[in-house]
Amino acid sequence: MKSEKTAIVRVAIQRPFYKVLDYQCQNDCLPAVGCRVRVPLGNATVTAIVVESGVESSLQLKAVTAVIDERPIFDRMMLELLRWASRYYLYPVGEVLFHALPVALRKGKPVPKELFWKAATTINNASLKTLKRAPKQYAMLSVLMENECDAFALKERFGNNWKNILRQLDKKGLIDTREEELSTSNLKRPENLTEKTPLELTTEQSHAVEHINAYFKADNLKPVLLHGITGSGKTEVYLRVMEPILSGNKQVLLLVPEIGLTPQLLQRVQQHFPQYRTAALHSGLADGERLNVWLGAKSGSLDIVIGTRSAVFTPMKTLGAILIDEEHDASFKQQEGFLYQGRDMATKRAHDAGIPILLGSATPSLESLHNAKTGRYHYLKLVSRPGKSIPPEMVLQDIRSLPLDAGISQLMMQEIGQHLQNNNQVMLFLNRRGFAPVLMCPSCGWHAECKHCDVGMTYHAASGRVICHHCGTEEPVKTTCPECGNKRLTTQGQGTERIEEVLKTHFPETAVIRIDRDSTSLKGSLEKKLKKVHEGQRVILIGTQMLTKGHDFPNLTLVGILDVDQALFSMDYRAQERLAQQILQVAGRAGRGERKGRVVLQTSQPEHPLLLNLLANGYYQTAQQILNERKQWHYPPFGAQALIRANAPDSDSAYQFLLKIEKEMSLECLDGCEIMGPMPSAMIKRAGRYRFQIMLSSRQRGLLHVMLEKALQILNHTRRTGGVRWTIDVDPVDFM
Ligand code: ADP
Ligand code: ZN
Ligand code: ZN
Repeated sequence: MKSEKTAIVRVAIQRPFYKVLDYQCQNDCLPAVGCRVRVPLGNATVTAIVVESGVESSLQLKAVTAVIDERPIFDRMMLELLRWASRYYLYPVGEVLFHALPVALRKGKPVPKELFWKAATTINNASLKTLKRAPKQYAMLSVLMENECDAFALKERFGNNWKNILRQLDKKGLIDTREEELSTSNLKRPENLTEKTPLELTTEQSHAVEHINAYFKADNLKPVLLHGITGSGKTEVYLRVMEPILSGNKQVLLLVPEIGLTPQLLQRVQQHFPQYRTAALHSGLADGERLNVWLGAKSGSLDIVIGTRSAVFTPMKTLGAILIDEEHDASFKQQEGFLYQGRDMATKRAHDAGIPILLGSATPSLESLHNAKTGRYHYLKLVSRPGKSIPPEMVLQDIRSLPLDAGISQLMMQEIGQHLQNNNQVMLFLNRRGFAPVLMCPSCGWHAECKHCDVGMTYHAASGRVICHHCGTEEPVKTTCPECGNKRLTTQGQGTERIEEVLKTHFPETAVIRIDRDSTSLKGSLEKKLKKVHEGQRVILIGTQMLTKGHDFPNLTLVGILDVDQALFSMDYRAQERLAQQILQVAGRAGRGERKGRVVLQTSQPEHPLLLNLLANGYYQTAQQILNERKQWHYPPFGAQALIRANAPDSDSAYQFLLKIEKEMSLECLDGCEIMGPMPSAMIKRAGRYRFQIMLSSRQRGLLHVMLEKALQILNHTRRTGGVRWTIDVDPVDFM
């Protein structure tokens, strides 16, 4: 007898749809929520993720073609978190779900089973001896005679080449392989790491650890903000806070801003916790490696995951706490596609899971400081450095009447000379790579501009090219002016390449090491350069923001900051916060050892209140001052904002599209919400597209979201012509 109703599953697919789709399914093989399936879509078959299962429907629907997963790849809580993110950031649910999956699983490949190897039962010491000539195979087989090992364990002991060695052994029939369902695996810890004697905590650190431990155990959990100056030993605090979580058989997720910092931290964590399994998850990993870590975290065989932004979506079987280092860092906000804020996702995840979260920074975001002030977060401080190291002295240098060479004052040059003479290291900070930002003709005023953006091209001397830093367009540098034929083009301003050149001529005896995206693009080159600095010899380091974070150079005593002024004049209301953070982070590289550090800020605005406040009263006071200003304007965190952006190959299409959106939205605008625009973005043309935006703001986040949902409907219904594309950016940080 045929029943009237059939069971259906509701699925999300990786397309820009805001809806989920229904498919019919055989009642006896109904996939669970969080499993992947294959479904027909148009003429194709695509991978989909089940978000609801077993709903009944009397509609005639297409049927699911295949069920891929026996067990869900997302647990309920992760699935809910991702669906929440889709609503909060108004981004298509399928795109969000697939974004959270390792690439290897997006295409619908089955989840690999986990493999374990041990020496074949017939193996004895005699057969081992036959491998005398192959020391690596010998070593691996000896290990496999003692223990059964998985890929993690073998990689940890034998490095990247472990697979080859294993294959050789397998060929000779010396090992047995066992397959296991992922979620049932219960792996051994690596045993070969030697534990370092842990540091004795300073009073301040122990105090922080005690408080955090207590907060973490309390019934009403609140995020904890740890505000510790640079070099105050926050990492040590993180490690101690992780101890009770791990010994309670729970996992820890540690989020960091930069992929460049993960190897250092990974090593430190592994040394502190040799008995636990730690792995890093970041965009630098190959797809297969990423998948392994992801699966290890999901099955519970990994105890600690250290990762960058997207690691916040790592499934973890028994997650016990989340820690975020440098929580203020802009890289936690994704700037393309799914525009989420990783830190905020982490706090939401911790809240939903009922687990503690610790946010650490030397320069906390104003949002977090505000949350601390209003009592939503616990707030703890570390105000001194352990041992003999003391925070550097910071001074302003008024350059208005000083002669400059490539933007460096003579006074600064003298100071550099002195510090080098005392066998110390010096670092100059300039957040602009290349030789000079302007290449121009002195006789007619022509200057090199990007064809696709409304900005100038930066002259790169090393490669002999001009490059657009916004869209990447590059050209060989011209030798004659294309307008008037003049044969002598000149440059204006300076980037790191030029500073490097000037310093090399000034200090021919000293090694000058430039660290920016150009000089470190080859794999391993950053490590090489950093190694030289760590060897402690006299060097001058020149760097962009790549150098600001986390590095610890004990012999560095002088830091010169060259481009303070630019940010002081920025139109972006977040520029001051960023500048204060950047200055302190860069400054924090100085005087980490026993020698006192000095930080010199070159500026033509020595009376600027931000600079004066920062130097005299420190970050907390400065942040309060900026917060007070924001309060008057109801800027975040005192209000919420979102941008609706649109772009098109021609300016009119983009503008007219947003104008229509704005008109319709104005009709429905709620009290307490404001719509501004459409207005051109700060950079109106970028990569060949003209860009406009509408700003939505409200003092109440709830109201803003009601408006955003209306906006989304209008956007989805409004016809787009002339190649218009649009995006919604909730809690934007970049107004370019
Ligand atoms: P932060 O992350 O707060 O900038 P780090 O955690 O990198 O600081 O610590 C700065 C330096 O101080 C490191 O070299 C670290 O080994 C050292 N350190 C941290 N805690 C202690 C301690 N209790 N005793 C001695 N040295 C310490
Ligand atoms: Zn000219
Ligand atoms: Zn460009």
